[in-house]
Amino acid sequence: MVLAAIGNYPFRSAMETAESVTITFSLDSIMANNIVFIIMDSCRYDTFTMADTPNIDRLGAVEKRYSYASWTAPSHYAFTMGMMPHTSPVGVFASTVYKEEFVLWTDRTGLPDISFKDFLPEISLPLVLRKLGYRTVARVSLPVLNKFTLISRDFDDYKLMENHNDFSGMIDEMEFNPDQPHYYFLNLGETHYPYMLNDDQLPHISGVHGVFKSLDNRDRQQGSREKFFDPEQMQMLHRQQVKCVEYLDGQIGRLMDKAPGNTWFIVTSDHGELFGEDGYFGHGPVMHEKCFEVPFVEGLK
Ligand SMILES: [Zn+2]
Repeated sequence: MVLAAIGNYPFRSAMETAESVTITFSLDSIMANNIVFIIMDSCRYDTFTMADTPNIDRLGAVEKRYSYASWTAPSHYAFTMGMMPHTSPVGVFASTVYKEEFVLWTDRTGLPDISFKDFLPEISLPLVLRKLGYRTVARVSLPVLNKFTLISRDFDDYKLMENHNDFSGMIDEMEFNPDQPHYYFLNLGETHYPYMLNDDQLPHISGVHGVFKSLDNRDRQQGSREKFFDPEQMQMLHRQQVKCVEYLDGQIGRLMDKAPGNTWFIVTSDHGELFGEDGYFGHGPVMHEKCFEVPFVEGLK
């Protein structure tokens, strides 16, 4: 994509000019990368490493990272700020880590000298990218990320998919324009419970995706609790999450074929998942290492 050249880059002072900034470039035109940010919801690190992922592997080596939150909404809020899952580094101040984190958007976009000050005051990745000339598009699968939430605020186009498992449908709709870079923010439900299983294949949990069960007043009044999964069921569900990652890898291969060469992919998860470890299943109100371990891979296709 070609950005016309004039004026100040990237922002004069983001704090002073948040509303009025025009992102332009001096002298030569610059080709910005498309960015495709894929979040495989609930995919914990070891699930990813157990899966065969030849397409994602083309992007680079997978890293074990840690999510900033144990469930979907706050974790996606951190992504929307431009923050990736962290490496939990020792001997360094958090402020230094954050500073280095935002500079990485220079490599991802292929544009010069992006830093934390460019994110101020909103600290919104889609807003920064829009100012850089991107079209910003989000497709989400989890209802907790619906378009009325704050996360949707700075996208040009934001949609909750009708089907929980429709990464394939997202890909079909995606377009890449040689005259404008695209930022695609994709939350995928295939790796979230029920892991693409049908009702008759599943150990039963009532409620939407099992997530809102504890919020049901009738259940609370009755003090009822359904029987928890047994170890065999837990293992079956974990194996099924591995299969979902392999399915998504195939779809990512299809998307990589469709995307232009200057497309930067990020593949990660918003949190992990418990499959019986220390008596837990799932994620959310869980304080356990497996709930925070996530895979992280990025690179040009
Ligand atoms: Zn999630």
